Amino acid sequence: MSTFKAYGVLNATSSLAPLQITRREPQPHDVAIKIAYCGVCHSDIHQARNEWGNSVYPMVPGHEIVGTVTSVGAKVRRFKVGDKVGVGCLVDSCRQCPDCKEGLEQFCSRPIFTYNCLELDNKTPVQGGYSSGIVVHEDFVLRIPDYLPLDKTAPLLCAGITTYSPLRHWNAGPGKKVAIIGLGGLGHMAVKIARAMKAEVTVLSRTLDKKDDAIKLGAHHVYATNDPKTFEHLAKNFDLIINTVSVKLDWGAYLGLLQRDGTMVLLGVPTDAPQLHAFSLIMGRRSLAGSLIGGIKETQEMLDFCGKHNITADIEIIPMVKINEAYERVIKADVKYRFVIDMASL
Ligand code: NAP
Ligand code: ZN
Ligand code: ZN
Repeated sequence: MSTFKAYGVLNATSSLAPLQITRREPQPHDVAIKIAYCGVCHSDIHQARNEWGNSVYPMVPGHEIVGTVTSVGAKVRRFKVGDKVGVGCLVDSCRQCPDCKEGLEQFCSRPIFTYNCLELDNKTPVQGGYSSGIVVHEDFVLRIPDYLPLDKTAPLLCAGITTYSPLRHWNAGPGKKVAIIGLGGLGHMAVKIARAMKAEVTVLSRTLDKKDDAIKLGAHHVYATNDPKTFEHLAKNFDLIINTVSVKLDWGAYLGLLQRDGTMVLLGVPTDAPQLHAFSLIMGRRSLAGSLIGGIKETQEMLDFCGKHNITADIEIIPMVKINEAYERVIKADVKYRFVIDMASL
């Protein structure tokens, strides 16, 4: 076992504080990575604070990991020392089920998430990216296009793939009208990616405070959802709505913005679900769907797509000691548009 510096929580109410963690010695198929940057996802906060009810402590959050390879196991062929690499929300899976065989490891019944999870031995906890280094099986390590800057690329490993995957799956592209609810970490990546896919992009934010930003990020239109006229004006308008908000919203009202056969995809996870009348779906043959990050193959496809279109996140870099303050600011939606921790500060 090797020891690494990290920041984590000891229980649902503790602040993040320095911790020492151990990780396995690199095995023949493992890649050891020095972490340069790690993004701060709202899911880190949900899990650090046990808002999904499944948290195990101590917990080192962080699943938007980028860095450089420091050593590789004897059988690793795809990576070498010095390569720029990333690790997202998954570090392993059963590899045998139909989902894994199709490259959809996120839907495996035994996925190994990057933290708040146990290894396949069902004993050893895995710890995330608020840490100086990580050891990951090569099959779950992503290659970062050379010309993308590491710090701004970190958020692609979760916010990027989580929005790319449903945009791809529900065919965002030329002639398609796509709305993004919530201009936060996921939302701002969704805008950039949907625009690069050549869809017509609308941001639905609570107010018009972020209107100029949304347009700069690539949105064609911006509407305030605190204005009831928005829901009249945009009725039956969109092919696809990507909902990134993690609090209870009136899903029925948003479904009314879909054209016939349109789909609203849930990405955010509200702790209590709103009531939905069946007519919201029946009238217009509409669908309510969900989507979970993306598989490894698709994550690499997303990174290559972002490399080709020069897409990275808009970030605010913080030293590790500012992490507790950053969590409070994410909750207030006071971040443009993703915090990224500089691990050199650890
Ligand atoms: P974030 O940066 O906090 O963004 C959320 C956005 O939601 C905010 O910027 C804000 O946009 C809007 N919002 C916040 N509070 C609201 C409120 N009270 N009412 C209405 N809108 C509100 O969070 P994130 O990192 O993008 O993550 C968003 C959600 O997705 C989280 O629940 C996270 O756990 C989840 N997630 C899911 C997956 C998946 O695979 N499904 C992956 C990653 C994250 P405006 O200010 O523009 O209104
Ligand atoms: Zn995330
Ligand atoms: Zn599986």
